[in-house]
Amino acid sequence: QETHKYSGIVEDCCCDYETVDHINKEVLHPSLQELVKTPFFRYFKVKLWCDCPFWPDDGMCRLRDCSVCECPDNEFPESFKKPHHGLPLDDLVCQEGKPEAAVDRTLDKKAFRGWTEIDNPWTNDDETDNAEMTYVNLQLNPERYTGYTGPSARRIWDAVYAENCPKYPSEELCAEERILYKLISGLHSSISVHIASDYLLDETTQMWGSNLPLMYDRVLRYPDRVRNLYFTFLFVLRAVTKAADYLEHAEYDTGNLNEDLKTQSLVRQLLYNPNLQAACPVPFDEAKLWKGQRGPELKQKIQNQFRNISALMDCVGCEKCRLWGKLQVLGLGTALKILFSVDGQQNTDQTLHLQRNEVIALMNLLNRLSESLKFVNEMGPSTERLVEGQ
Ligand code: FAD
Repeated sequence: QETHKYSGIVEDCCCDYETVDHINKEVLHPSLQELVKTPFFRYFKVKLWCDCPFWPDDGMCRLRDCSVCECPDNEFPESFKKPHHGLPLDDLVCQEGKPEAAVDRTLDKKAFRGWTEIDNPWTNDDETDNAEMTYVNLQLNPERYTGYTGPSARRIWDAVYAENCPKYPSEELCAEERILYKLISGLHSSISVHIASDYLLDETTQMWGSNLPLMYDRVLRYPDRVRNLYFTFLFVLRAVTKAADYLEHAEYDTGNLNEDLKTQSLVRQLLYNPNLQAACPVPFDEAKLWKGQRGPELKQKIQNQFRNISALMDCVGCEKCRLWGKLQVLGLGTALKILFSVDGQQNTDQTLHLQRNEVIALMNLLNRLSESLKFVNEMGPSTERLVEGQ
């Protein structure tokens, strides 16, 4: 049994590191892994076309591993593609980001039945705008090493940190701004862990596997990055549990009754697990934030910063990275929306409305963070011994 390198309560949260690892391993990770495979959760609607407002010269990534697989037509849940206004079925478009292959927006009326279409004020994309949107099967496009690196990737991360968190880690930063930084840093750690855990080790033989020195260099040797990963996980988990009532009664309808019942039961299993409720009932206490006179103004400022981060995802020059960047930023935006507002204004008592895509992004993000925690927890101690012992 490894002793935990990180101890005590996760900063700004309400649970300790050992408990988080325990509930993740025993409760959350197994349910989430099942959940994201269900038809409802594996199709993500996304605008993949590179539409960068900051560096218009940025081209699309041409690396092979960056390509997002197209979904074969017969893979879709039937209810996603019911023809509307007499349009033939093969008008359904599911391809990597080609604007000329845009999804027929009338299809979405059917696919999104029972779900409201209200734009998320925390994100840049207008999720109700169906032009140029396409569906992607996430199971065919795992987040892993893609070869995307160099100045293009670097300037995005730099812009995310420098433009949105200019003063960090200075003491001047208030709690709310520190939280935005930590969310981004935790997500960055998680992306790096996925790159390291599924890496192209040998190009000639196409051998994939873990690259532990890379995980050490990018994440483990910086305790802050590991702590931020735990923080982001608890923040998103809190959003999911806070929206439990909504998520329990949401319509998980893909037209496949057995699969949809299974989805519903997995969601309940996740939301109302007694072990989770006993071990970590309130993973993060959002009620402490946005207090005081400057509260509403600060919230607006952070919302704008987060929208900038969301807009930066359109500049990611690798399609698969863009897919996961957009999904995870939408997931974080959804968590922010659940915890802090519906419309970003002062009225926090409004009824919660989520779009199908927001729920898909939220749960897939939680699953990614859960995978990263498990990997760090299982491989971290031996990797550190290996690398530091050299
Ligand atoms: P980077 O990861 O690019 O980091 C840049 C700088 O940010 C570091 O030098 C450090 O100063 C700081 N930093 C790093 N991690 C943290 C942290 N956790 N907290 C705070 N600061 C930190 N590549 C893939 O192979 N597959 C993908 O799926 C993928 N998805 C991506 C998604 C997005 C949105 C972006 C912007 C990039 C993505 N990339 C992906 C590229 C990948 O993240 C790296 O940029 C690339 O591998 C080069 O890594 P690097 O060592 O230069 O450091």
